[in-house]
Amino acid sequence: MSLLPDPSHMTALQREGSISLVGAGPGAADLLTGRALARIAAADVVFYDRLVSADVLALIPPSARAVNVGKEVGQCAWPQDRIDRLIVDSALQGLRVVRLKSGDPSVFGRAGEEIAAARAAGIKIEVVPGVTAASAAAASILDPLTERGRFDRLVLATGTTLAGKAPENLAPSLVPGTRLALYMAVHHADLLQAGLAAGGLNAALRVTVVSQTGTPFERVLRCALGDLGQEVRAQGIRNPAIIFVDIPLAQTVSDSAGAVALA
Ligand code: SAH
Repeated sequence: MSLLPDPSHMTALQREGSISLVGAGPGAADLLTGRALARIAAADVVFYDRLVSADVLALIPPSARAVNVGKEVGQCAWPQDRIDRLIVDSALQGLRVVRLKSGDPSVFGRAGEEIAAARAAGIKIEVVPGVTAASAAAASILDPLTERGRFDRLVLATGTTLAGKAPENLAPSLVPGTRLALYMAVHHADLLQAGLAAGGLNAALRVTVVSQTGTPFERVLRCALGDLGQEVRAQGIRNPAIIFVDIPLAQTVSDSAGAVALA
């Protein structure tokens, strides 16, 4: 006979709480990992983000509380420190907390702050990886993220700085052989186009924008870098979207300043 108490007879207070930062992937529920499914099924409470799809939310068991802590773009209804406190307080009450984030929690998911908050409170924390949007988009358009002889470097970057402007520090990433995957970027398409041109990229380089990948509403836009802003506007492409900028090895040369131009 087991000396351990039957969990069904334990109150939440007697149980040790935990936090799982779970990757929900790009939208399709069948892209969740087995571990993500298990954590969701065992959750007492699930705090989820705006981009987590309805298909994934439908997997939350009726016994678990589901709380939307999602932020609209430009709005901070749930500041990060409030979310940190909330997940920690729930775990301190003995609850199994699932923090459900779109894609992979470790890619632009503010996982670091939540890990630090859990550690500071001495709470058990884990990260369950998910399929990040760049991987899902590449799979969907059958265009691999790396390619022997053409793309030997993959750079994941945000198109939005903390100040809400397009980043000016992308230039060091713009070396031949790079596939650049820009997150949170499509609303800055004009600024990015200008910034990448100023960084030395030729306007003829190929750009692919994939929005709402992994959902029935996926759209794909292919154009030259020089047309990016105009095409995104004309086609009405909106977030969530990934912008791939291809700087292939074979077709690129470095000028004396180290910037990249199409040969
Ligand atoms: N942790 C997430 C990224 C969150 S940041 C991940 O690993 O995918 C939010 C950005 O992710 C969006 O602005 C967009 O650039 C990208 N994104 C999220 N879901 C997407 C989707 N279904 N299709 C295309 N891009 C997506």
